[in-house]
Amino acid sequence: MAETKLFIDGEWVEAASGETFPTYAPSTGEKIADVAKAGREDAVRAIEAARRAFDDGPWPRLSGAERAEKLRKVAEILNGRVQEISEIEARDGGGTIKKAMFADVPGAVSSFNFFADCAQNMPEVVERGESPFPPAKSIVRYEPYGVCSGIVPWNFPFIMASWKIAPAIAAGNTCVLKPASFTSLSAIEMVKACEEAGIPKGVVNLVTGPGGSAGEELAQHPAVDKVAFTGSTEVGRRIMQLASGTVKKVTLELGGKSANIVLDDADLDLAAAGVLFGTFFHNGQVCESGTRALVSRRIYDEFVGMLVERAGKIVIGDPMDMATDLGPLVAPSQVDTVERYVKLGLDEGAKLLCGGSKPTDLAQGLDPNAYYLPTIFEADNSMKIAQEEIFGPVLCVIPFDSDDEAVKIANDSIYGLGGGVWSKDLDRAHAVAARMRTGTVWVNDYHMITPNQPFGGYKQSGVGRELGDIGFNEYRQVKHVWANTATDRSGYLHFSALSANI
Ligand code: NAD
Repeated sequence: MAETKLFIDGEWVEAASGETFPTYAPSTGEKIADVAKAGREDAVRAIEAARRAFDDGPWPRLSGAERAEKLRKVAEILNGRVQEISEIEARDGGGTIKKAMFADVPGAVSSFNFFADCAQNMPEVVERGESPFPPAKSIVRYEPYGVCSGIVPWNFPFIMASWKIAPAIAAGNTCVLKPASFTSLSAIEMVKACEEAGIPKGVVNLVTGPGGSAGEELAQHPAVDKVAFTGSTEVGRRIMQLASGTVKKVTLELGGKSANIVLDDADLDLAAAGVLFGTFFHNGQVCESGTRALVSRRIYDEFVGMLVERAGKIVIGDPMDMATDLGPLVAPSQVDTVERYVKLGLDEGAKLLCGGSKPTDLAQGLDPNAYYLPTIFEADNSMKIAQEEIFGPVLCVIPFDSDDEAVKIANDSIYGLGGGVWSKDLDRAHAVAARMRTGTVWVNDYHMITPNQPFGGYKQSGVGRELGDIGFNEYRQVKHVWANTATDRSGYLHFSALSANI
């Protein structure tokens, strides 16, 4: 049985308490490792190591190009281990091996390469053009914040870890990462790659353990300058409160209840595939899942029939098998949550069109309590199942009569993370997209996130952006330096604002 450690100040160490916690393969319920259980004391040790590495170590003083070289090395190491890391990711989190190999590991490799490019190519010092008071000149310096903590959820543990570590260190910060307790294992592989690439000690630290203790310390400790959190809106609110004590920079990537709008002129074949992919990919355990399909009443019956028929073709089974489309949810407790919402939907009067139960025909050895069938409800947008994030394979289909009404329903949500519009008329689709109050809209597509474009939420889906040059700048402070070489200040008004006699 594997036993894992924390990574603090360049050393693999046990938790100060010596405690561990088990991690399971949700597909079978089998225990796969004992994970070091970091408490507050360990989080503080990691933060202090990151602080020293920032204040006195070489990393922030390297050029962008030098840091870029190290990040590219990390990418290269990870790229050489796609199969191995994908197996760890799929076994620990229950996502399919297909998803890990096509999305998670290559996505993390691209993140390291993209942020290496940012470090190399995005200038750290920018002259700001003609001064209104020559010869005085302004420059803006883009500087790292210092110590950044990254707290990530269990749904995409590997790629989320890369979205925290890569931009933070590319910009010259040091960091402490905390994975979710369900899924600690793949982040360990990422940190090993950072170590192997020769990133100096203290620059990347890892604490595995519960949010309530280690996580809280990462959000509130005075030596942390920035907190980057991905997870539920509820915990995001808590993070904001904790970080407010020392007025830290905070970025939050939170929950969602995104609308996938199918207009009456959509390519129905493509849109049906897109709506199913948008909802059921990774069992709906995706923050931007399009869990509300808004469908034009003109095509409603035909389209919903297509959804139900095709949902039945999704292959459920062993996540380690390349032929499997959907594995288990992350844990039986997540299935319990889904069951609660399905019951609530029925109580609210939603019409169950398919699914609504655990599968009964799983292969032997798979844990039936960790699986749930793709479920489709015809619902009203005011129902709880259409308003609250379920984080499971549950789609609400909601009819509309006009583009205006579709936009109104889409925006009738506390969230604003993702969304889709399906139409053959691009102008019409863009007009709808422009009116959606959400951080990302895909037109005739879904779930396409690339490291070079910003990702984040409106409303209670978050604060700030990850990815892209915009996401990179969330890890850089802006300093304005005004330098004046004039010796005669008589033409300047600002000194005179105090006195002409000084
Ligand atoms: P969660 O909020 O329960 O936990 C996220 C992380 O926060 C975990 O590492 C957890 O240990 C830690 N944590 C929990 N309580 C804490 C506390 N009091 N202080 C500090 N840290 C604490 O979320 P989850 O269940 O792991 O993930 C699912 C949620 O994440 C969903 O709401 C989903 O929408 C969201 N999510 C958002 C995005 C995005 O980019 N917007 C991406 C993925 C997941």
